[in-house]
Amino acid sequence: MTVTDSAALALRGGPGLVQERRLVTPIPGARSVELMERKRAAVAGGVGTTMPVFAQAAGGGVVIDVDGNSLIDLGSGIAVTGVGNAHPAVAAAVAEQAARFTHTCFMITPYDGYVAVAEALNRLTPGDHEKRSVLFNSGAEAVENAVKIARAHTGRQAVIAFDHAYHGRTNLTMALTAKAVPYKSGFGPFAPEVYRAPVSYPLRDGGLSGPDAAAAAIRMIEKQVGAANVAAIIIEPILGEGGFIVPADGFLPALVDWANANGVVFIADEVQTGFGRTGRMFASEHFGIVPDLVTTAKGIAGGLPLSAVTGRAEIMDAVHAGGLGGTYGGSPVACAATLAAIDAFENEGLCEAAESIGEIIVRRFRELAASDPRIGDVRGLGAMIAVEFVHPETGEPDPELTARVAASAHTQGVIVLTCGTYGNVIRFLPPLTIPLELLVEGLDIVATALRDAPTN
Ligand SMILES: *Cc1c(COP(=O)(O)O)cnc(C)c1O
Repeated sequence: MTVTDSAALALRGGPGLVQERRLVTPIPGARSVELMERKRAAVAGGVGTTMPVFAQAAGGGVVIDVDGNSLIDLGSGIAVTGVGNAHPAVAAAVAEQAARFTHTCFMITPYDGYVAVAEALNRLTPGDHEKRSVLFNSGAEAVENAVKIARAHTGRQAVIAFDHAYHGRTNLTMALTAKAVPYKSGFGPFAPEVYRAPVSYPLRDGGLSGPDAAAAAIRMIEKQVGAANVAAIIIEPILGEGGFIVPADGFLPALVDWANANGVVFIADEVQTGFGRTGRMFASEHFGIVPDLVTTAKGIAGGLPLSAVTGRAEIMDAVHAGGLGGTYGGSPVACAATLAAIDAFENEGLCEAAESIGEIIVRRFRELAASDPRIGDVRGLGAMIAVEFVHPETGEPDPELTARVAASAHTQGVIVLTCGTYGNVIRFLPPLTIPLELLVEGLDIVATALRDAPTN
């Protein structure tokens, strides 16, 4: 894909906003400062914000704030607006559906959009076996239901999650999530029958091979839980909030083989990695695995709240009628958005765009890493790329440097997100519609922020 193609894409994928970084006030500007005061007085303090500015419009690769600043978006609202913000086809589908009906409840009077989304998910997710899907609102809700389905199918209770995992903020998904602060601390007791296994983390596990790392996890499961008690293994094919950790080759296939051999349901949580983000529709495809169940959300619906569990028909259909559902699950408006977004993924070259974006980011930071030992690792697939910062002498995580680089980028009009168990990772998740020149400009700013950041 050329830069020109990408710019054309951005125009198709956004509400006609000029694709540029433009600062007309300091960040934050006066109107954002005022709104932030109102937020402090009205919104629960537990809801943090990464950026100090309020949004007014967004599309292509930019977010416009209420003071008229145009920011480069390298986060896409945490991997949500892959098709671009306010994609015209998504916006039109939402408007059209909202004018016809906004809600009947699929469990009361069903509608065809829900069925069409299920058909699309059954077709797009890995594997050509017979599948079923069920729709919900959030990623956490999809994960909760995947566990319910696995337990109903197996008649077993234990669930295996991994170090550095993130699966959401509800009670069961907090239990599955690894990191205490900010996700779990003070919110216990957590759901029982959740066990944590070691994951493959090539930078930090001494370079264990994938099969060896899987063997260590399996040993733990068999000794501490017992295969016969395990309903499900749940894992993000690339660990997201935990630091965009890409497991070593062979790790995931070995876990899938073990699950298959032991009647354990293998759940791939593709809430962050799904929908073209990694350059394939699903990250599982990179690793050659076919999960029994796949959870999806984030990038699925062009910004509307929709999530799903998709999987083998015989597992999905193990739940009695009435056992799955929810008032809003698969809302007609969100389904309309999903169908429009899926059409964009299939027809606008977004997986290829993800590849081009990733190549640019990786090349840039690998070059920098050659002369800057504070960059401990550059990793990821497609447009899901992380840079991990370390103290050069020890290799220990450097969250202070990470925070300084991110804050400096923010004040210069670039939206970047951090992540990682140790808070020492900057993650790049641009909309797949970002013009490549704009991406390069955003990376220049992050690179300069790093160069100028004082070392501890
Ligand atoms: C974001 C995320 C979730 C939770 O999704 P919500 O929509 O925030 O509930 C679950 N799993 C993974 C891998 C995620 O990245």
